[in-house]
Amino acid sequence: MRKVFLCIIIALLVTNEIYAQDKQQQKPLIVKPAKRNNPPSDAIIVFDGGNLSQFRSSNADAPAPWRVSGSKLIVVSETGNIQTKKHFGDMQLHIEFKIPREAKNKDGQQSGNSGIYIMGKYEIQVLNSHKNETYTDGQAGAIYDQYPPLVNASLKPGKWQEYDIIFKAPRFDKNGNMKEPPYITVFHNGVLIQNHAKVKGPTTAYNKSIPGKAEKGPLLLQDHNNEVRYRNIWIREL
Ligand code: MG
Repeated sequence: MRKVFLCIIIALLVTNEIYAQDKQQQKPLIVKPAKRNNPPSDAIIVFDGGNLSQFRSSNADAPAPWRVSGSKLIVVSETGNIQTKKHFGDMQLHIEFKIPREAKNKDGQQSGNSGIYIMGKYEIQVLNSHKNETYTDGQAGAIYDQYPPLVNASLKPGKWQEYDIIFKAPRFDKNGNMKEPPYITVFHNGVLIQNHAKVKGPTTAYNKSIPGKAEKGPLLLQDHNNEVRYRNIWIREL
C-alpha cells in the first residue's frame, strides 16, 4: 500500500514538473511599454519625421512624392498613393492623423478623405466625420464599403487623432484557396470601433498589383486630394 502511495506521489511530482516546463516555454516575451503614443521597444518605426525613406510611390517605382514637415507626413494632392517598401502580415499598427481645418468647408467624401490600406488592400477610412454626414460604411473608421464603425469617435478637423489597428492576415492553402479570411480590429482615439471584423475582400481602389493570394503586403496611404497629415507610424509584427 505504501509503495502504491509513493508511486502516486512521484507520478504527481513528475507531471507537475513537465507542466511547469510547458508553462515556461509559453512565457510571454517581456516588452517595455513606453509613454502613451510612443512606440514600444519591439516596434518597427515606419515614420517618425525626417524623411520618407521607408515609403515609395504606389503607382511607379519612384520615391514617395508626399511632403515631410518636421514630424509630419503630408498628402500632396494628385501625386498618388504611397506605400511602405516593406510588406507586413499579422500586425499591430499605430498611426496618427490630422484632418486639415479647411475640411470643414467641404462635405461628404470630399471632407478630409484619405485612407489606410492594410496590405495595400483593406482600407480603414480616414475622413472628417465630425458633423459631416456621409454613408455609414464610408465614414471615418469604416472598413470601406463593408463595415461602418461601431461608434463615431471622431474629433474636430485640426485635432490629432489616432488609430490602433490589429490585423490578422488571410491564409491560403498550397492550392491557393483561402483557409482563413483577414480580420481587423480598430481603436479610434482609444475607443473600439471595429471588433475582429471579418473582411469580405479587398476594398475599393486597392492596389491591384498585389497578388490575390498574398499573406503580406505594404502599408498604403491614400491620396484622395485632401492634405491630410500623418505622424508617429509604427508597427509590431505579430
Ligand atoms: Mg479614403
